[in-house]
Amino acid sequence: MNKPLLPGAVVNGQPATLGVMGGGQLGRMFVHAAQAMGYYTAVLDPDPASPAGRVSHHHIQTDYLDEQGLAQLMQRCAAITTEFENVPAPALFTLGAHRFVAPASDAVAIAQDRAAEKAHFVKCGVPVAPHAVIETTAQLAAVADDLLPGILKTARLGYDGKGQVRVKTRAELAAAWAELQQVPCVLEKMLPLQHECSVIVARSGNGEMVNFPVQRNLHRDGILAVTEVYPGVIDAALAAQAVEATRAIAEGLQYVGVLCVEFFVLEGGTLVVNEIAPRPHNSGHYTLDACDQSQFDLQVRTLAGLPLTPPRQHSPAIMLNLLGDLWQKPVKQKSGSEESGSEPNLLRKSGSDPNSSKSGSDPNSSNSCPPWDQVLALPGTHLHLYGKLSARAGRKMGHLNITGASPEAVRATALQACALLGLPAF
Ligand code: ADP
Ligand code: MG
Repeated sequence: MNKPLLPGAVVNGQPATLGVMGGGQLGRMFVHAAQAMGYYTAVLDPDPASPAGRVSHHHIQTDYLDEQGLAQLMQRCAAITTEFENVPAPALFTLGAHRFVAPASDAVAIAQDRAAEKAHFVKCGVPVAPHAVIETTAQLAAVADDLLPGILKTARLGYDGKGQVRVKTRAELAAAWAELQQVPCVLEKMLPLQHECSVIVARSGNGEMVNFPVQRNLHRDGILAVTEVYPGVIDAALAAQAVEATRAIAEGLQYVGVLCVEFFVLEGGTLVVNEIAPRPHNSGHYTLDACDQSQFDLQVRTLAGLPLTPPRQHSPAIMLNLLGDLWQKPVKQKSGSEESGSEPNLLRKSGSDPNSSKSGSDPNSSNSCPPWDQVLALPGTHLHLYGKLSARAGRKMGHLNITGASPEAVRATALQACALLGLPAF
């Protein structure tokens, strides 16, 4: 974008409007940030109940490749971003021909394909896990023994540990590839992880780049569970290496927007890049409460062509992910609570309008609601729920940020919150 789209401006008789492809929680938090700054927003997502669609000025309810939907989005918006990496790259390409789109379709296309992604890391000179691309039976047969035990990952469309099979032998590998319908895959050597971390950068159209501090991440069952960010949580030399690698990856893509790079820290302290996300990231949600600018604020700035200034973390922070499983536990320390069914609908009356005050839509009326009143009695707790009305196991329903004066204080509060919620300590 040559000229910035100034907040609150009127362009061709329309309020300055930013668009987002995808209506999940990341889109919702983008919409919140954009609206706080004075922009109007438009969300394209087929789901009428999408978390971002519900809070946006405009919600275009079509498929991502629907020509009319894309035309409507372009008619509304001066600039368009994306909130999940599986938005079809051709849709971004179409939009990019007429509007400023960040990140660009070619960067998103690389992030959508583990094989292309790994090739990009190698090109940038960043260390990757030993791996092999498997697209043919010949490639399957040629896999080096050294890659086993390993993890077979579909090249496309995997997330939160989905589309992955752990294999120990060649026979298991062949069976796993068959189970994955022989789609293009990457086999990665199983690495001895000491821990995981990630880095989020924002890069503007004129090449300015800023980064958040390195985040330490704990995954459970392939899904992010806890992020901790404070001085000393990651070795300083490793952190510097991770930031440098992230900047090289973003620079190499000529990336515009917010980008997250996930890393493995191996036993012995070696850093290996895992994957990239061409958007704000779950491990960056602490920035909403612990930094002077959040990852979503920076997404807005890069999209609108506004200046970037380095974000400053003002408080040590821990983020706890709140998965649907939490709604399936008996409520702690409350009399009269019942264990709920396996997939509670948080609305009391099914089929009623969730926006109507008469519909009984107050999630607090549900017996399965976690004890937020007790959690929010702890100092420095910030609850973010995404407005999803049905809680499935493993579904990201929200997150809890905990800030405090010291890492010790934040950890102590986080562990108390875990105990109240029935989450494992860490
Ligand atoms: P997703 O796209 O689902 O996030 P990832 O490739 O990041 O997929 O894998 C999810 C998690 O599985 C990682 O965060 C890590 O905990 C574990 N994992 C993935 N690859 C490896 C590996 N090569 N060695 C050890 N653990 C791994
Ligand atoms: Mg991952």
